[in-house]
Amino acid sequence: NRRWVLASRPKGAPTVDNFRLEEDSIATPGEGQVLLRTVYLSLDPYMRGRMSDAPSYSPPVPIDGVMCGATVSRVVRSQHNDFHEGEWVLGYSGWQDYEISGGEGLIKLGENPEHPSWSLGVLGMPGFTAYMGLLDIGQPKAGETLVVAAATGPVGATVGQTGKLKGCRVVGVAGGSEKCRHAVDTLGFDACIDHHASDFAEQLAKACPQGIDIYFENVGGKVFDAVLPLLNTSARIPLCGLVSGYNATSLPDGPDRVPLLMGTLLKKRIRLQGFIISQDYGHRINEFQRDMSQWVKEGKIHYREQITDELESAPEAFIGLLAGKNFGKVVIRVGAD
Ligand code: NDP
Repeated sequence: NRRWVLASRPKGAPTVDNFRLEEDSIATPGEGQVLLRTVYLSLDPYMRGRMSDAPSYSPPVPIDGVMCGATVSRVVRSQHNDFHEGEWVLGYSGWQDYEISGGEGLIKLGENPEHPSWSLGVLGMPGFTAYMGLLDIGQPKAGETLVVAAATGPVGATVGQTGKLKGCRVVGVAGGSEKCRHAVDTLGFDACIDHHASDFAEQLAKACPQGIDIYFENVGGKVFDAVLPLLNTSARIPLCGLVSGYNATSLPDGPDRVPLLMGTLLKKRIRLQGFIISQDYGHRINEFQRDMSQWVKEGKIHYREQITDELESAPEAFIGLLAGKNFGKVVIRVGAD
């Protein structure tokens, strides 16, 4: 059983030295337990927060503890009445090959799910985040302009495509021309702007001639700076993530822009609302599952994964995710299915 543990807490961007690969024997399940074999491990930006011991909505991974993470696994041995060998489950085994579980929190995916890894992405937590944040907080209406960054990741891509289904003009922001092309050609966005461009703010303004009614915030930083002056009266901002700042060790230099932000929110009566999907919307998972599985089946929502083989590659893939090196939902194929 291989497992990645947290060796030290990062200062700034994580490095491979913050992780340590350990190996021990595979445990045997006791009465009322199952042995799970990880097939797919999800890597997500929130894990950067768990590596830090700063106060947050969830406790940190302890030093020498197994890195946390959602997993799709198969039951390889069962001493539990509700689970049998061969079954697929969605769980939270973390960055390791095997886990002994008492069954708590495991979600059954059936004998032969068509795309088991999709329950880590468009049909799972990131898709749910996109769906609730956009529909409940964003309140999209036909003809409105929706802007979303990290546009080709699992959250952003689902936000933009859901916005199109609701009749919005959708403008994505992504890193690089290949991602921007994908957002327009495959995901059906009306436009997508490369945030690396030196004239990014001007290009964004041009792509939003009617201003911005909904800004789905995934990244913060200079993307938010460019969005702020374009916001319309009564705009909504679902505050989902701020990935551009997850590795920051201090507040940015420069003039204090809080008065500009507060003044804009006040004068334009803008609603800015943070949310944490698991804590705020757990009770609404059924509507998400009903709608999203239907839309995916009908080909209305496209989904792109970046699957990397081998548990060994997890730290590098995670570091790359925070730096925008991924193109699609980052999944590690840990074991053969
Ligand atoms: P992604 O796969 O989209 O990965 C993050 C992306 O952020 C990168 O690929 C990169 O895309 C972009 N990015 C990184 N640094 C910067 C930067 N400095 N400026 C602009 N863009 C940057 O991740 P997810 O779809 O899984 O998550 C998207 C956001 O949603 C994250 O902020 C995450 O924390 C948040 N989230 C929040 C949840 C909640 O409950 N509130 C639940 C799930 C996710 P590119 O190269 O295109 O810029």
